[in-house]
Amino acid sequence: MALIVHKYGGTSMGSTERIKNVARRVAKWHDAGHQIVVVPSAMSGETNRLIALAKEIMPQPDPRELDMLASTGEQVSVALLSMALQTIGKQAVSYAGWQVPIKTDSAYTKARIQSIDDARVRKDLAAGRIVIITGFQGVDEEGNITTLGRGGSDTSAVAVAAALKAQECLIYTDVDGVYTTDPRVVSEARRLRTVTFEEMLELASLGSKVLQIRSVEFAGNYKVPTRVLSSLTDPLMPLEEEATSGTLISFEEDTHMEQAVISGIAFNRDEAKITVLGVPDKPGIAYQILGPIADANIEVDMIIQNQSVEGKTDFTFTVARGEYAKAMDVLNKSVKEHIGAGSIVGDTKVSKVSVVGVGMRSHVGIASQMFRTLSEEGINIQMISTSEIKISVLIDEKYMELAVRALHKAFDLEKA
Ligand code: ADP
Ligand code: ASP
Ligand code: MG
Repeated sequence: MALIVHKYGGTSMGSTERIKNVARRVAKWHDAGHQIVVVPSAMSGETNRLIALAKEIMPQPDPRELDMLASTGEQVSVALLSMALQTIGKQAVSYAGWQVPIKTDSAYTKARIQSIDDARVRKDLAAGRIVIITGFQGVDEEGNITTLGRGGSDTSAVAVAAALKAQECLIYTDVDGVYTTDPRVVSEARRLRTVTFEEMLELASLGSKVLQIRSVEFAGNYKVPTRVLSSLTDPLMPLEEEATSGTLISFEEDTHMEQAVISGIAFNRDEAKITVLGVPDKPGIAYQILGPIADANIEVDMIIQNQSVEGKTDFTFTVARGEYAKAMDVLNKSVKEHIGAGSIVGDTKVSKVSVVGVGMRSHVGIASQMFRTLSEEGINIQMISTSEIKISVLIDEKYMELAVRALHKAFDLEKA
């Protein structure tokens, strides 16, 4: 007997029929003698619907009230799932995050989990109940409801698994695992049987939304065995088969020996580029440009400063597209005159494409192969950034899918 956490995403919870299927699957695991905690997301489309409602009333919604509203989607899910389980003869109880409680900081819309009290959950489990906990939300020290950022139910599930020292966290979703790239963009994408924790961290941070980045961080910090698998299979399929399906996030590199140098390609459409032209090339310039950006709580991603010509240089960086207008405002109001820059230009129609693989550490020539592939497709590279296990390029957004497909082919990712 083991304690296992199941997480079900929005599509998996998308209708009462799907919820009944989730209940059948969960009941099957419980019947096998396991203690089960389930963390569902809101029904698909619900969080978007709630946020849109808020914006109809208040274009820049008050963050506290937005979290109060957005958290309700998950409350609907847990109650319906509990009823579905009770209907098939299981004892089940649902909790909102604050009832557990799952404590977070007070950063509304992007709160971080600080602690999870396991007492109440353990008592229910010991009494034979299936426990269902809302994903995506928690409560701060003052008792305000907070949410964890889009896709945050993944993080709730892995954090609950860590707090309960669960044997495994199973992330059920609408694809049957982690693929070499988003299978909705490249139909030849191949499912990975395992992916290393480090690679998954890069893929998630570079835009693969299959797992929220913070869930991967939790899995790594607490060594939670985490598997991504399909919720759309027959819920009554043999448990042993289901338990080994999907993609396991592995913490050991050697399971990996014969794997390809590149394991996956991630992309992010949500990028914007800003260039400050004609900046005097002297100490402190990067700080004077990016300091006010950081003070405005805007995260900067890629950065380039060019070689100066006659004492002047250009400074380019990227931000999330949603923060572009705010960043331009900060630069125009409090940076441009102050540092004597020529002008500030920007482009919101850019995307980032990244190739990721731990094998890059021991192989040379990956960057040149990537650049050759893009050049053969006539795609211009605007910015480049690298780490030990990834290379990212910024390109015109209209070539993003072409770039992903060409790179997938060039690195033979469709072949095992
Ligand atoms: P859920 O609602 O279950 O949390 P998400 O929509 O958040 O599901 O995440 C699953 C989706 O992630 C898939 O439908 C797929 O389109 C997308 N995705 C992006 N990159 C990958 C990848 N490398 N492997 C698998 N799925 C990916
Ligand atoms: N329902 C939330 C969202 O849509 C959380 C999640 O799905 O993980 O972002
Ligand atoms: Mg998700």
